[in-house]
Amino acid sequence: MAKLLDGKIVSKEILDNLADEILFLDKKPCLAVIIVGEDPASKIYVNLKKKKALELGINSIVIEMPSNIAPAQLLNKIDELNKDEKVNGILVQLPLPKHINKDLVLEKICPTKDVDCFHPYNIGKIATGNKPYVYPCTPKGIIRLLEYYDIKLEGKNVVIVGRSNIVGRPLSQMMLNENATVTVCHSRTKKLSEITKQADILVSAAGKSGLIKKDMVKEGAVVVDVGMNRNENGKLCGDVDFEEVETIASYITPVPGGVGPMTICSLMVNTYDLFNLQNRI
Ligand code: NAD
Repeated sequence: MAKLLDGKIVSKEILDNLADEILFLDKKPCLAVIIVGEDPASKIYVNLKKKKALELGINSIVIEMPSNIAPAQLLNKIDELNKDEKVNGILVQLPLPKHINKDLVLEKICPTKDVDCFHPYNIGKIATGNKPYVYPCTPKGIIRLLEYYDIKLEGKNVVIVGRSNIVGRPLSQMMLNENATVTVCHSRTKKLSEITKQADILVSAAGKSGLIKKDMVKEGAVVVDVGMNRNENGKLCGDVDFEEVETIASYITPVPGGVGPMTICSLMVNTYDLFNLQNRI
């Protein structure tokens, strides 16, 4: 039976240490989050981030903008936050309304305040094997979780299902930088199971419940489930058929309680790291 990669335990340990460090600061780190429109899921995510920041002693500013806002107004707001010395990290909650060019918005964030690591400067650093100011939250959380359980990446066959800019693409480059041999699969990949079966470490970030079955996993593989889906009963579930796959994997992340807590943990650590960068501690 697989051992659990427990994101709740690992993130708690990291965040308890972070809270101790923040406690002794005269000036506190500050995270600014912009939310455009009324998307209920986005509102839940933004509230979670705000709550976690406040628990840790990180100041949190939430800027709510109407869905019909002119793109220039949003860009001006980012400019204002870029110049505001009290703000250390800026996050624009995605998705944005269709009339707003997401790429222009993400490029407007100053790379030294790019707490989600979406700016081409930071992503380009990773793609060229260099260090960005901070790493993207979900990939960073996954790598931290593996490190905690002493699961090495060097020389391993890693298969990642999903090539989004949030998870699959940056994770593939970060794992390559850690000397893993990385294969990225996506919705046009043929014979997916033949590829996933080669994985020492299998990461699924497709957003499709029940996608990864036991017969797609090599015996003893480490399985990381990034998916956050709702099943037919409305229950939160991942991409991996947990009951089946835990009988064959060596380690597996639960959903919830695996990658999710690690993502928010990375966001808090990133805010603190950018605070230190800007204050040259
Ligand atoms: P996305 O829709 O942007 O990308 C999904 C990727 O999966 C695409 O590259 C697509 O080609 C691939 N894909 C889809 N169906 C496939 C299939 N049948 N076979 C192979 N590849 C397939 O999604 P995203 O933003 O990367 O998120 C993916 C999932 O991860 C979602 O469930 C999302 O909610 C979740 N997520 C979780 C966290 C977390 O912290 N736990 C963070 C980010 C995303």
